[in-house]
Amino acid sequence: LGAPRTKAEKQLAEFPDRCKEAGLRVTPQRLEVYRALVGTDEHPDAETLFGRVRERMPTVSLDTVYRTLASLEEHGLISRVEALGNRARFDANRDRHHHYVCRECGLVRDFYSEALNAFAPPRQVRGWGGVESVHVQLRGVCSECAKKRKGNRE
Ligand SMILES: [Zn+2]
Ligand SMILES: [Zn+2]
Repeated sequence: LGAPRTKAEKQLAEFPDRCKEAGLRVTPQRLEVYRALVGTDEHPDAETLFGRVRERMPTVSLDTVYRTLASLEEHGLISRVEALGNRARFDANRDRHHHYVCRECGLVRDFYSEALNAFAPPRQVRGWGGVESVHVQLRGVCSECAKKRKGNRE
């Protein structure tokens, strides 16, 4: 197979070690759910991941995918994109990043910003407790949706 080439392949190759560190057993289900998630930057929901996992593992159930996502999240191997309506969306990007979210179609894009990473919390917040991370979510209407809107008007 040789050395892993892409970021996703590298993350996948590191998965067993990261499970071990987190005290989580590597099962075929966990591996396949993780593979489906690292292979995309779409921040898919559980149903979408279920469809992809099923291509490689036809016997898997949606319930198993839900439970697997929950345990991967609980052990810090993946994260959840917060506040996106009632459907949880998942993220395997471990690099420090922020999100752009389209409020019409639910598109989620990763972006990187040194300026946001260097953000200093207001003194008031520091009085409430320690700050461990800063995550900024920018919301708007994506250019695809804006184009559609314009098309509908014409
Ligand atoms: Zn959109
Ligand atoms: Zn992300």
